[in-house]
Formats: sequence, structure tokens, C-alpha cells
Amino acid sequence: MTGNYMDMFSLKGKTALVTGANTGLGQGICLAYAQAGANVVGVARRSCRETAEKIEAVSGHFTEVIADLSDLSVIPRIAAEANAAYGRVDILVNNAGIIKRCDAVDVTIEDWDSVIEVNQRMVFFLCQAFAKGWIQDNKGGKIINIASMLSFQGGIRVPSYAASKSAVMGLTRALANEWSKYNINVNAIAPGYMATNNTANLRSDEQREEEILSRIPAGRWGTPEDIAGAAIFLASEASSYINGFTLAVDGGWLAR
Ligand code: NAD
Repeated sequence: MTGNYMDMFSLKGKTALVTGANTGLGQGICLAYAQAGANVVGVARRSCRETAEKIEAVSGHFTEVIADLSDLSVIPRIAAEANAAYGRVDILVNNAGIIKRCDAVDVTIEDWDSVIEVNQRMVFFLCQAFAKGWIQDNKGGKIINIASMLSFQGGIRVPSYAASKSAVMGLTRALANEWSKYNINVNAIAPGYMATNNTANLRSDEQREEEILSRIPAGRWGTPEDIAGAAIFLASEASSYINGFTLAVDGGWLAR
């Protein structure tokens, strides 16, 4: 290592593709990457205008790709539009995800499949699409999958979500085992209970809100800003010898 250790955290000259970029944690990660110097490609079903405005406000570079991530056929177009915007994508963040709350006995096949499609199948095939190119050009890359506390725990009334997020942690390890030798770092972030749309239903249920809050050692729900440090770290040279690991950003939830 020559120069300043803090330079290891810079994403200057890199391009990051973040799915689910229009809101919540995805928006927070986009903003963090732009501030760390990366060009950002945001993928979402809807316009990412708010994300674009926040990034413009810090003089960053942002391009959106509109795509429905419940359909694997969109992957080649996402890759083509991202490459056309800034050249090579160096960092892939699989953040888009959905949750469906329902008693296990009442889950329909349709609801089960819709969660697995976005949270699990799309994550794997996006990883595969970008890693293929990175192995060919031999320049490495960074993958950060967004896992969950339900990669470690079973949760309540969200069996398809728990299954998909447990798969994300397993996949992160499996892909690291195959791709680390190509200088591709595959890691995951497991957010704790964060105040976003994903948890709006939970937070509107006074009893569940209180139960959850009282169990968080940090004494508060997390925010998109709380993810920023881990997201930059795992996308940067500072984490080049970290492979297949799922880092909890959870205010201590898993420590209890
Ligand atoms: P959110 O609901 O605000 O964001 C979800 C994002 O996924 C949105 O940008 C949405 O547009 C996108 N998305 C969903 N389905 C899509 C589709 N078919 N096509 C394209 N985009 C799609 O919630 P969030 O909390 O910001 O969630 C981000 C990630 O973090 C998810 O994977 C979620 O499971 C995970 N997570 C959240 C929490 C939490 O407490 N909020 C905890 C653990 C994990």
C-alpha cells in the first residue's frame, strides 16, 4: 500500500449499478456512491427523479434504467444501457426486493413465486451476467447483495421472504467460492430494521413497532444513511480480501 489509507475507500472513476434505486436503502446507497466519486446507474420500475436530484445536488453523475426486475429477460438491456452510459460497470448492488406478509398456511403459489423471482432468481442471474464480463476482461469487480436479518432468522409471517433472503446469504458464499480467484468480491449487507417502505406495515402496527424497537440495542430504527459506510467499504479497495461475508448493519439486533 502506497499513499493514504483513506484513498482505499474512494470510488473515483468507478461505475456502480444499484437496483431499486428510486427509494429507501437503494437511494441511500446511490447517494453514498456518488459522494464517494462513482458514476451511478440506478435501476428501478419507476422514475428515480428524487435520487437523481439528490445526486445532482452533490455534483455526482447518475443515469436511470427503467426495468421490472420480476422478469429475467430485462438483464441484457440493463447491462447494455449501463455500459452505454459510463462504460464498464465495476460494482453491482442487488438491492431491489419485495416482502409479502401472510400466514404460512395461506401463502399462494403466485405470491411465493413473485418474492422468489425478484429477491432470489434475479439476484443470481444479475450476478452471473456481470461476473461473466468481469471474468472475460480480467479486471475484477464487486458484488454487494442486500440480505436481511431473515438471512439469519425465520421472522414472523414472511416465509417466502425468509427463504429468499437466506438464499441470498448462501448465494453470496457460493459465488465467492467460485469467483474470488478472479478478483471479484462477492459480499452482502444484512440491514436490521430500517425505516423504509419495506417496513411501513410493521411500523404502523403499534404493538409490533414497540416489540421491535425495544429489542434493538441501539434503541432506534435504522436509516438509509446507516447503510452508507458498509456499502462504500464493500465496494472499495479497502475490502479486497473480504469474500463471501454477510455484514450486519443492525444496531446490534443479532447480538441479542
Ligand atoms: P423499499 O420497499 O423502499 O425498496 C425496495 C426497492 O426495490 C424499491 O426501489 C423498489 O422499486 C424495488 N423493487 C421491488 N420490486 C421491483 C421490481 N419488480 N422491479 C424493479 N424494482 C423493484 O424498501 P427498502 O427497505 O429500501 O429495501 C431495499 C432492500 O433492503 C430490499 O432487498 C429489502 O428486502 C432489504 N431490507 C430492508 C430492510 C428494512 O428494514 N427496510 C431490512 C432488511 C433488508
